[in-house]
Amino acid sequence: MTKEIVGKRISQVEVANPKCLNMPFEQFQKAIVGKTIKSVVNRGKWLFIKLGSDHVLLFNPGMGADMIHFKSDDKLPEKYHIKFTLHDATGFTIRVWWFCYLHLISANKLSEYKLTAKLGMTPMGKGFTVDNFKQSLDKKRGNIKTFLLDQKNLAGIGNVYIQDILFNAKIHPERPVSSLADREIEALYKSIKSVLNESIKLGGLTYEKDFYGNKGGYGMGQFKIAYKPGKPCPKCKTTIQKIKTGSTSSFICPTCQPLNE
Ligand SMILES: [Zn+2]
Repeated sequence: MTKEIVGKRISQVEVANPKCLNMPFEQFQKAIVGKTIKSVVNRGKWLFIKLGSDHVLLFNPGMGADMIHFKSDDKLPEKYHIKFTLHDATGFTIRVWWFCYLHLISANKLSEYKLTAKLGMTPMGKGFTVDNFKQSLDKKRGNIKTFLLDQKNLAGIGNVYIQDILFNAKIHPERPVSSLADREIEALYKSIKSVLNESIKLGGLTYEKDFYGNKGGYGMGQFKIAYKPGKPCPKCKTTIQKIKTGSTSSFICPTCQPLNE
């Protein structure tokens, strides 16, 4: 996105689902048309698009969205809800799977904006070091899976990835954070990095698309135990189990990931 949209001016915007906005569409349109895109970064699920007017566009795709780039002579996707056209007639469309947020905020209000102010470290960011990870776990109550899913701790690890992340580190999802040994936290840190890097390398999950509309390649072929109940564990052949962990499901190898250690 940085390569395709930064430095360009927004010439037109369409929003078919105005409920995703934090202001009436006319006001939104007036505020962003003519403005130059200064930068695009992500923190967890949130995309921060900084505009020349000292405003920031915050986009959160909810369950997911296809954001697809177009050039002036490209055929647009059949279905989309949001369209940004830039001054050189390129741009991008967004098809939202379920719901989304598209909020325009003053840059100086960003730090107090409640939906994004408390986002934790981004696991692919420079600040995510093993020491910072250890520190973030210090004195935390609750179990490790709940910790990993909470965007206030780490922004951007979804339930899909957590299964193999915990399996690689040989940690049961319901282990209390306080019970984790240093070597386990280090293994978990390495596993977070390796699972996410592998998915990024393959362009994301198989049901996701990149900015050019290419499908990701990370799916059942890459998963070790995730979504494979009844199959043998790739390490020890024990049957993989599906268990309930709070409001989410977990997949575990009961031999490799014992609850009591
Ligand atoms: Zn096993």
